[in-house]
Amino acid sequence: MSGDTSILLEIRGRVQGIGFRPVAFRLANELHLRGWVRNDPAGAEIALHGPPAAITRFRQELPRRLPAIAALETIVEKTPPANWPDGFEIRTSASADGPRVAGILPDLATCPECLRDILDPQNRRHRYPFTNCTHCGPRYSMITALPYDRANTTMREFVMCPACAAEYHDPLDRRFHAQPNACPACGPQLEWTAPDGRPLAQRDAALLAAVEALRAGKIVAVKGIGGFHLMVPAHDNAAVQRLRQRKRREEKPFAVMFPSLDAIRAVCNVTAEEQAWLESPAAPIVLLKKRANAEELAKDIAPGLPWMGAMLPYTPLHHLLMRELMFPVVATSGNLTDEPICIDKQEALARLGTIADFFLLHNRPIVRPMDDSVLALCDEEPIMMRRGRGLAPYSLPLPQAADGWVAAGAQMKSTLAVTAGGQAVMSPHIGDLEHEGAARLWADTVADVTGLHGLRPTAAWVDAHPEYASTRQALAWGVPTQAWQHHHAHIAACMAENHLSGPALGIAWDGTGLGTDGTIWGGEFLDCEGRDFRRVAWLRPFPLVGGDQAAREPRRVAWSVWRACELPGLPPGCTAQESAVFDGMLRAGVNVALSSSAGRLFDAVASLLGVCQIMSHEGQSAMRLEALAGDMPATPYPFKLEAGVLDWRPIITAMVQGAEEPALAAARFHETLVAMMVAVAKNVGRADVCLSGGCFQNRRLLAGACRQLRAAGFRVWRHREIPPNDAGICLGQAALAAG
Ligand SMILES: [Zn+2]
Ligand SMILES: [Zn+2]
Repeated sequence: MSGDTSILLEIRGRVQGIGFRPVAFRLANELHLRGWVRNDPAGAEIALHGPPAAITRFRQELPRRLPAIAALETIVEKTPPANWPDGFEIRTSASADGPRVAGILPDLATCPECLRDILDPQNRRHRYPFTNCTHCGPRYSMITALPYDRANTTMREFVMCPACAAEYHDPLDRRFHAQPNACPACGPQLEWTAPDGRPLAQRDAALLAAVEALRAGKIVAVKGIGGFHLMVPAHDNAAVQRLRQRKRREEKPFAVMFPSLDAIRAVCNVTAEEQAWLESPAAPIVLLKKRANAEELAKDIAPGLPWMGAMLPYTPLHHLLMRELMFPVVATSGNLTDEPICIDKQEALARLGTIADFFLLHNRPIVRPMDDSVLALCDEEPIMMRRGRGLAPYSLPLPQAADGWVAAGAQMKSTLAVTAGGQAVMSPHIGDLEHEGAARLWADTVADVTGLHGLRPTAAWVDAHPEYASTRQALAWGVPTQAWQHHHAHIAACMAENHLSGPALGIAWDGTGLGTDGTIWGGEFLDCEGRDFRRVAWLRPFPLVGGDQAAREPRRVAWSVWRACELPGLPPGCTAQESAVFDGMLRAGVNVALSSSAGRLFDAVASLLGVCQIMSHEGQSAMRLEALAGDMPATPYPFKLEAGVLDWRPIITAMVQGAEEPALAAARFHETLVAMMVAVAKNVGRADVCLSGGCFQNRRLLAGACRQLRAAGFRVWRHREIPPNDAGICLGQAALAAG
């Protein structure tokens, strides 16, 4: 028709795997436009031919029709082709050279429509645990290659039945091009087995057997979307204790899956923001404040803590299980403590066979392990503690980055980032690389993430610590490398997340990181601009006696600060004999490291206040101190700031001599740390202050620092999307390399 125009749009962002093409197809048909839509390796392409008004209308309407999870980052107009089909078509994916950077979707929690399907006795998917659609279901855990098509997922081995195929090819159906589409006739199935793998029941009978076993207090390993959970009834303390013994996890809190939001509300306070996260497609574990009647739950779930990790069912399997049970279950990662989560049947039987009494399995393979994500809210914004299932992979624009950079991350709570198409793509949580299994997973993740994007490592950005497994492995590749100081990378991550280039004062507080002077840093104030930093203030260094052991035994740090304050007698948690040994080590300088770590100062205070002498897991003392302080109002202790050195000795002396209630002392300690930050910020005089490092997972510290720094006139920047702990380091390394 005369007056018709043509347009070719290249779309970048999160457009694959969310029903983008069906939405475009339906809209184009409504507007009688000719052309096509197809996925390409970097996103999608739409070609339109028709009246200009209809094309304008299409471009206005398209974003409104897409599900909330979609993100149109850039839309570029290209030269349109000369030939047009008669109508509008969905074409097969284009393959091309160059990096594949289409925003890969994380796994999405079951949508309300699919939940209705599995609960409706008339529906052909009634009680089918693998129901999904273009709005929900597995994504990252089953993708083997890009572009996102069924042939490139672990669903390729399931041939769709005629009914599923009809949905898949019907542009008006919610399951149009839903790559994991399946039903009881053609899709994956459940199996119930003994710990030796002997099959005991199939399909719905398997589900009902799991329900019976959980009712009887058994430990059941359940294969989910990104790996296995170990489940026990949350009200059965004997079962919880048995799980702790077998899993060798003494006190680290367990997460709990609840049948409903009301069931969570019965034992925890839930704010509007917390509810929104619990019910989001990411469905993470959210740390919630326990209510007084949380005693209905086993006391050993989160011992000594006033909060607990709660989540809602996020797959049809979990929904069906929880609806039968109608009580909450502990749902902890299926692994031995600190190992990566199991994903494979044989591996799970081998590794979990001594822990679980039974296995609830299914035959949809999982490509890569994905732990549940964990977050807490502070001032109504998230503190990401772990980005895993539902929140990974995650990418942030880094336009100056070349393709194939690998930012290796650190050692604890390891993640890594790969740059592709001007984005830094951050991997899911990998684990603590001290453990061989996690170090192997780190190497697998490098191959996986670079491979998915069609890249090979072209450069490696590493932590300055030469002994980190990430550093050692990356340096062996023979590509250009550069090491970045740990705390500098923390602040760079915070600046990148908040789009700052500096100058800014970075407050990087955590447990440990190698400093440029060879000592252990962790209570650092860094004046940052571009790629450079200057250490402008720090906590007064103290000796750690016994190296790594000091990081696990708060009483050793307490001994050290006690000595530094020249207090009489001995600190609690340490005998005269031990004290003599520590003295000897200190005099000889054997196995003694100097540290300015804020995390270790938390340890010292936790020991002095009697809440933690030996830690069973990383961060335990700081968590207990935060819990002890609660929201009790308090005034700061005295401290000194001289030539950039923050002297904490007046704090310790006042605390020991004051002999106040431990809760009040803990609250005053938090307030003092905040006052220290304000004092340094005023001295340095930068308008922007960035907060990063594991200590800022402490909600009282983070909220207090934000409030008081703002009250003093500073612009304060914190993390919301990126974890403040070492999982954020990889982004900082990539951002520093990009300049
Ligand atoms: Zn759905
Ligand atoms: Zn089917």
